[in-house]
Amino acid sequence: MIKFEDVSKMYEDGTAAVHSLNLDIKKGEFFVIIGPSGCGKTTTLKMINRLIPLSEGTILINNKKVSEYDIHELRWNIGYVLQQIALFPHMTIEENISIVPELKNWNRQKIKARVTELLHMVGLDPHIYRNRKPSELSGGQQQRVGVVRALAADPEMILMDEPFSALDPISREKLQNDMLELQRKIQKTIVFVTHDMKEALKLADRLCVMKEGKVVQIGTPEGIIHHPINRFVRDFIGSTAAQPEEFLNIEQFLQPICTSIISQPLIKIISIHTPLQEILEKLAHEEELAVEKDGNVIGIINRQMIIKYMSTHLQERGRV
Ligand code: ADP
Repeated sequence: MIKFEDVSKMYEDGTAAVHSLNLDIKKGEFFVIIGPSGCGKTTTLKMINRLIPLSEGTILINNKKVSEYDIHELRWNIGYVLQQIALFPHMTIEENISIVPELKNWNRQKIKARVTELLHMVGLDPHIYRNRKPSELSGGQQQRVGVVRALAADPEMILMDEPFSALDPISREKLQNDMLELQRKIQKTIVFVTHDMKEALKLADRLCVMKEGKVVQIGTPEGIIHHPINRFVRDFIGSTAAQPEEFLNIEQFLQPICTSIISQPLIKIISIHTPLQEILEKLAHEEELAVEKDGNVIGIINRQMIIKYMSTHLQERGRV
């Protein structure tokens, strides 16, 4: 779907931001680019929609060079979400979402219906929010609008540049969960830039770890956690997320789901990939949690079970 072939970017002042990058991003994939500040993530992303021209190499979208696309066609077919909530302040939420559909000459009725659908998709009641101005929404709500605005004209792919990093931790986690839910429904090709390993591991189908303009490792979250290619990746996982062993398999400790539990509307759902520390924090407040894997709830975990898990886990590691 999106292919980088030996792509390099040298800025005019001589900064070599990206060197000989090769990437093959598949259709429908949630592809996360991660690395420390200045490693070339944003440059990589912006070369896809030609906001930054590349210096060497080729980027192909559906086997056609990005340089050969009509620039409008290219940009309208690629949604783009930025860290700074870039909604137009003088326009209503509806008007903000309608920008690209209007440029594409959709009729009024179709646009209106699309705005209603999109606002519902991210849990914002269209009756309440469509006529509000951005300043009448919280930061998290504005960023939700930013996400659906990028989806408005049904682009094939979406580029997201640190879209949640300006939010407080609670809104951020909520938006990450919503994003996962949304992606299950829409199955777009998403290229997502972040410097937060925890966020990357949570969202990615595959992630690409970059350092100094080069790819260090590409793999699934499990692959990267369990087989980091070098010290840099290992340290990066360790510094921002749980230690690899803290993702150990909790599956065998889960209690099977019984309908009475699932019908409890308030039970919280966590991913099977949630780090142990986060599960412990959640279980400090919740009696039990439903555990989800690949979109399905596969069991229930409660405080007793996690203690049992930890005790076995510690014995295995010879600490007790
Ligand atoms: P990241 O998104 O990983 O923080 P960037 O892609 O923004 O990294 O930047 C990569 C490198 O290119 C950095 O060294 C940065 O300072 C440099 N850079 C970014 N934009 C420009 C520019 N317009 N002119 C010169 N250097 C730039």
